Amino acid sequence: MSVQTGNTKLGTFFRHRAHLFVGAAFAMALATLFAFAVPILVQVFLDSVFGNQPPAPFWWVQRTVAALGGLAELKARPVRLAVVMLSSAVVNGVFAAVAARWMALGAERATSDTRDALYAHLHRVSAAYHGRVTSGDLIQRCTSDVDTVRRFFAIQVIEVGRALAMIAVAIPIMVRLSPRLTVVAVAILPWAFWYTYAFFRRMQSAFLASDESEGRLSACVQEHLAGVRVVRAFGRVPHEVERFDAANREYTSVSVRMIDLLARYWGVSSLMVLLQLAAVVIVGATLAIDGGLTVGALLVFITAELMLLWPVRQMGMILADMGKARVAAERINAVLRQPVEDADPTLRGPGLTRPRIDGAVEFCDVSFAYGDIATLRGVSFRVAAGETIGILGPTGAGKSTLMALLARLYDPNEGRILIDGHDITTIDRRWMRRHVGFVLQEPFLYAKTIQENIALATSHAPDSTVHSVARQAAIHDVILGFHQGYRTPVGERGVTLSGGQKQRVAIARALLTAAPILVFDDSLSAVDNRTDAHIRTALLQHRATTFLISHRATTLARTDRLLVLRDGGVVEYGSPAALIAADGEFARVRRLQEGASNDNV
Ligand code: ATP
Repeated sequence: MSVQTGNTKLGTFFRHRAHLFVGAAFAMALATLFAFAVPILVQVFLDSVFGNQPPAPFWWVQRTVAALGGLAELKARPVRLAVVMLSSAVVNGVFAAVAARWMALGAERATSDTRDALYAHLHRVSAAYHGRVTSGDLIQRCTSDVDTVRRFFAIQVIEVGRALAMIAVAIPIMVRLSPRLTVVAVAILPWAFWYTYAFFRRMQSAFLASDESEGRLSACVQEHLAGVRVVRAFGRVPHEVERFDAANREYTSVSVRMIDLLARYWGVSSLMVLLQLAAVVIVGATLAIDGGLTVGALLVFITAELMLLWPVRQMGMILADMGKARVAAERINAVLRQPVEDADPTLRGPGLTRPRIDGAVEFCDVSFAYGDIATLRGVSFRVAAGETIGILGPTGAGKSTLMALLARLYDPNEGRILIDGHDITTIDRRWMRRHVGFVLQEPFLYAKTIQENIALATSHAPDSTVHSVARQAAIHDVILGFHQGYRTPVGERGVTLSGGQKQRVAIARALLTAAPILVFDDSLSAVDNRTDAHIRTALLQHRATTFLISHRATTLARTDRLLVLRDGGVVEYGSPAALIAADGEFARVRRLQEGASNDNV
């Protein structure tokens, strides 16, 4: 299965299973033929075996009668015809089952491929896309939208095939038996189609309203669960319950509207079917009395009429489901069409390299905006390999954004970022990320064991190495204190780690990668001063170029260089000693913090 580019569409996965769908359609057509054989053989029974009419005017009927020994033989042994009828019914059932199975199999496999492709694709689209789309929406696209398309293919497409096969087989048979009665029998079809289409249009808008209101309901639950602590702490429970109740009532009323529409549709279409059937029976009976139609042929007509009207009534549901499937398919395709990071034209071609990375980093006049919100303006600085650079700045100054550009989650709008003299847009993105270790302020831990969480990127690392990095991150003793040590699961079924413990597990994880560039995005904020100092001493052993985003002046004072950002621009840059001497922003923060800690003493 190919998910290499952003051009993959849902249709591709269904085309890959075309053999199953074509096979199912063929089996369906055969099932329909055998379904019609039964009433026609009944006609032979009534008109020719029990009566004295010639057999129905179809070549295959006459061949069957001849193969069974002729009419005289059948009159003597009618059970032979009964066996053929029974066999037709069985063959019809077998083909119908085969058709349903192949159709469902095709739909299941195509949707399984779609889910795989969506999931793989979501890992490769840009960070900007993930920033724009909510995870709830993406989950809905990967699960319920895919299922809507699957259900349509598995259930309704076969009904379309059945309806078309019915019309193709029934109408010629009816015309052959009585053109006049056929006119009566199909008189209602145009009205039935029109009514079905009108129903489909109304149902479509009802479905849309229902989808939207279901989305609001799930968003309500999702938000509440995500923020359950805040909701309780601020006494917002009654408000949230009320909000949910309003969304729930809206969803219920939209659903009731849909049920009303459906009920009206089934009612009116039942009336149409009955009127049509009554017309066929009355006109057919009159013709039979006048001798223009045999009793057996009338029976065939009535059966064919019933077989024909059922799929016409079903068409409303089929069209409604088709509308839903179309909307769902478009939502899936919208994700699959998102360009993947590696398909970025600047990364393709001969310019792409995998150089040796020692860790010298240079930002040259870098500017960046999220959409049209300018976030970084002309940022320039340089760090030599192995140096530690502290980054200070008020909240929202652009510190994390600076690091996101270094990880190539986004590319600068202007300026260049160089690593060991190579423009990072010319370096293979995966290669580069392998050389930059990140520890975020709120690290993400998987619901796995602590050992697995540390050895995430290096699963083959020996236990001794994992323990060594855990020691450096000052978390080893804490882990040993847990009942199952390093095998303790994290999350719902295991221990709940504190913010500082999580940060330290993430630090151990980053140290294990032995990346030449390490970024600590405010990731020592939740540990005490002593642990902070211990970790920083351990970091020195790694000789990695270290970016240390921090608000702690004591931490920043021990770095080689210091960058102070404000409103996306550099306001101070130099060694901590030089910045203290210059008595600027850093010196002010340092004084404030020293004053605060003296007050606390
Ligand atoms: P903090 O110290 O609070 O973590 P920061 O200095 O790291 O702040 P950034 O996270 O880089 O600041 O954010 C800089 C600005 O960019 C902020 O105004 C923020 O609202 C905005 N911003 C950050 N991420 C995005 C995003 N994905 N889309 C749009 N705007 C963003």
